[in-house]
Order: sequence, then C-alpha cells, then structure tokens
Amino acid sequence: MNFMKAHQCYDAIPTSSKLVVFDTTLQVKKAFLAMVANGVRAAPLWNSKEQCFVGMLTITDFINILHRYYTSPMVQIYELEKHRIETWREIYLQDSFKKLVSISPNDSLFDAVYSLIQNKIHRLPVIDPISGNVLYVLTHKRILKYFHLFASKLPKPSFMKKTLEELAIGTYKDVAVIEETSSVYEALGIFVARRVSALPVVNKLGKVVNLYSRFDAIVHRLVLVNEEDVVQGIVSLSDMLQALVLSPAGVNASFLCHT
Ligand code: ADP
Ligand code: AMP
Repeated sequence: MNFMKAHQCYDAIPTSSKLVVFDTTLQVKKAFLAMVANGVRAAPLWNSKEQCFVGMLTITDFINILHRYYTSPMVQIYELEKHRIETWREIYLQDSFKKLVSISPNDSLFDAVYSLIQNKIHRLPVIDPISGNVLYVLTHKRILKYFHLFASKLPKPSFMKKTLEELAIGTYKDVAVIEETSSVYEALGIFVARRVSALPVVNKLGKVVNLYSRFDAIVHRLVLVNEEDVVQGIVSLSDMLQALVLSPAGVNASFLCHT
C-alpha cells in the first residue's frame, strides 16, 4: 500500500507504447475495425469541437452495441454502419454516459487503483494537465506488472501465505456462469446485464469446462472450483488490487460505489 502511495502513475508508464485515439465523428464500425487492426482494446475519444477528451471506447461498448442491435447472422447491423461514435453515445448511453475518468501523471498509483475500482472501469487514461495529451492508458494489469517488478525487494505482508478463500478475495456468491450449450448471444446478454468480465462455462453437471471472457486474455482471472470441478468463486485482477492495495488502507472502493 505504501509502495502504491509512494509511486506516481508516471513511473508505471512504459518508455514506448501504442496509443490509438478516435475522433467522436468517426463511424462506430470503423472505430472497432481500427481497434482490431491495431491490436488495442480501448481508445480515448477526442471531441474536436470541444477540443478535449470526452470518454473511452472499449470492448464493453462493442459488446453493448452487438447485443442491442444484433438480430441474426444474415442481417447486417445497420446501426453499426450508420452510427458515428458521438451519435451512438447520445442514443444508447443518453444521460447515463460516464464523464471521462482520467488521472494526472503526478497522482499516485494508489489513486489510480482507487479510481479504477470505484468507477468499475478497466481503462484509466493518464492525461498531462499542461498539454491535455493522453500519455498512456493505465490498466489493472499494468499496475500489477509494475508492482511485480519491485515485489522481490518489498517486505511480504503476512497475509500472502493465506488462501484466497481465507482472505475472501474474489466473488463467491452468485457467480454468473453460462452453459456450454448456450449461444454467444446469450453470453453477451449476461455480460451486459450482470456487467461481469468473465463467465465460467459449465456442462450439465455444473462442472467448469472453459472460461468465456470479455477480453481474449483469459489469464486475467481465475475460476475457483471444488474437487468435483464445480464453480465456487472467481478472482479477477480487480479483486487482487482491492486486496493488495485498498483493503490494507481500510478502503473498500467497490463498496463505496454501491452506496
Ligand atoms: P473493458 O473492460 O471492455 O475494457 P471497461 O470496463 O473499462 O471496458 O468499460 C466499461 C464502460 O466504461 C464502457 O462503456 C467504457 O466506454 C467506459 N469507460 C472505460 N474507461 C473509462 C474512463 N476512463 N472514463 C469514462 N468512461 C470509461
Ligand atoms: P473485473 O470486471 O474482472 O474487474 O471484476 C469485477 C468484480 O466482478 C470482481 O469482484 C470479480 O470477482 C467479479 N466477477 C467477475 N466475473 C464474475 C462472474 N462471472 N460472476 C460474478 N462475479 C464476477
């Protein structure tokens, strides 16, 4: 926790990285194709009229669009062709869209973890307060990777030897799962309705046979099973950051978010 308070977001930014930015007048379809072509999972949105960054476009947004407009594989998603990012944000998100959540390079990594978990987001743009430029998009993975670089030199907290279950790290109640016979559309529906990032895929006996994730990077979370391979819980990178950084400081950002 002290480590995270003592290090700035700037410290965790790699020396070189790829950043893709979309103007909000770009067509949604082109934006998603460009994300895939560039191998990025999220992009800051630039509003050229207001001359500032106004939001993020992520895989979650793509899932929301697909789930809302998909009817069958034979029918072209007209809205995907027609909408610009700005019109889609106005129509779909209406008043509910999140103001851009960002952080300054001089803020601490502790503040970054707090913001990611409290706002239930996976992308936190680091914006230079002077130029207004996005320097990097911080993620849970990047923060944990940075922490890991120093981990061998840091004293190990006593709780590191305890089990995940003893420490209650993760989610153990009401874990959202999907049956292996379900359609992709049903899975998308659960991602939208439950706002979860991963779904254990279970067979008829309730045994876990796979993990279906909002990102393709399934290493991002663990499914805990019992001896019969039945789901007991799920542990994601958010849970690890909550336990390693926020809980020792007496902060439960995910709880604050619900109140
Ligand atoms: P993913 O897990 O697919 O990368 P997120 O969980 O970060 O996506 O995004 C959830 C929702 O929050 C999306 O609608 C996304 O556009 C929005 N969002 C993500 N990051 C930010 C941010 N820094 N500021 C405002 N909204 C954001
Ligand atoms: P994440 O979206 O991976 O950052 O996780 C946010 C929270 O949702 C964490 O507390 C996870 O344990 C929880 N979570 C992730 N997937 C599931 C799921 N399928 N069912 C219930 N909770 C989940």
